[in-house]
Amino acid sequence: MRKLFKNGTVLTLDESIGDFDRADILVEGSKIVEVKPNIEADDCEVVDASDMIVMPGLVDSHRHTWESLIRNVGADWSLQTYLGSIYYGNLGSKRRPQDDYIGNLLGALEALEAGVTTLLDWTMVISRDHAEEMIRGLDDAGIRAVFAHGPPGDAEYWDQASELDNTADARFIKEKYFSSREQLLTMGLAIRGPEFSSWETAVKEIKVARELEAVCSMHLGFGTWGATERSIEKLNQAGLLGPDLNFTHANAIRPEEMKMLAEEGGSVSVTPEVEMMMGHGYPALGQALENGVKPALGVDVVTSTGGDMFTQMKFALQAERARVNQEQLSQNIMPGPELHITAKEVLEAATIDSAKALLLDDKVGTLTPGKEADLIMVRATDLNIFPVNDPVGTVAQCTHTGNVDSVFVGGKAVKRHGKMLHTDLEKLRKRAIEARDYMFNASVSNS
Ligand SMILES: [Zn+2]
Repeated sequence: MRKLFKNGTVLTLDESIGDFDRADILVEGSKIVEVKPNIEADDCEVVDASDMIVMPGLVDSHRHTWESLIRNVGADWSLQTYLGSIYYGNLGSKRRPQDDYIGNLLGALEALEAGVTTLLDWTMVISRDHAEEMIRGLDDAGIRAVFAHGPPGDAEYWDQASELDNTADARFIKEKYFSSREQLLTMGLAIRGPEFSSWETAVKEIKVARELEAVCSMHLGFGTWGATERSIEKLNQAGLLGPDLNFTHANAIRPEEMKMLAEEGGSVSVTPEVEMMMGHGYPALGQALENGVKPALGVDVVTSTGGDMFTQMKFALQAERARVNQEQLSQNIMPGPELHITAKEVLEAATIDSAKALLLDDKVGTLTPGKEADLIMVRATDLNIFPVNDPVGTVAQCTHTGNVDSVFVGGKAVKRHGKMLHTDLEKLRKRAIEARDYMFNASVSNS
């Protein structure tokens, strides 16, 4: 029941504890008990963490997990092509419940292998059976996740005038699976929000999320409409803002709207790679920080980007620096001496700030005694990392999935010595191919 992680370079990301060149972490059951150098403890399994950076598991605040099955199908897709190919009754509607099981299992295992111990699964729910299979996929992977119950992708749902909603299904799912918070999977509600549904529908669904005590996540404030809709301002005027609302992208919202989020609550999930690629707009990381909002990070769509958070940290950090550097260069000023935003800020975005966005910061996001033992070990001897002179910079800028030696969720190992412990990877691959083929065939024959 007890594990002692011995002699690691420990990044707790908890300001009150600090980081350590060398320290130990004592875990009892699922929880962290103590973090300090030279812990003496009997009756425990010792995990050798020497030559490792030990840090909190990464938290992905926005991912459509089922899309693992159609990975990279949209390498050259704009946002318009993506929406037209996945939504409105197209590819995203061609899933059977068993496809959702395997898609979520594969997507969650991919995340775990990459050191992501928590994710928000922004789902497109076709039916109750589909939702239940998605939940089973997450559960079998052993990941911590917010299952954000969402609308189907059908055209009639995404017609802005639509009054359709599937919140009755969401209530059913909440009651059946998420009555307790003391489990790896918790409830969220994924809604279309005021830019993809009517205002009345958006308000109704926000209220349902609050009844269900579910974090309420919506895509908002990007593309050509993001700046003109002023949805944050409208939500503020209606007295609806609060820390339980999660806004994905928000590239084009105004600085004063960002300040409203800082004052009234509401998180921003930046998914920098896909935003720069598809045409959402410039990632809002810097604008958020400048206006008092600590942004969360996310992967979003593996149809078009990789599924790991190290990549997202790099994109977020350097995109924001490039933006500010270019502003200065355009005024004939050589940027510096300090760069805009820090490696630490982007690492916090990928851990504790994403945990806050998912309302899970009391459980994960830092290595703090009392929190769940969701932690990862990065091999500090790998040639792309060694010698480690700045652990935070190393993780934010140099580390990749292959450097992740071990992953623990609630104290339980899911990856050790570079290998996933999930036993059925061969069977998983076979089933994923079968599901993928079914979906593509159904899509072609119906189009
Ligand atoms: Zn999304």
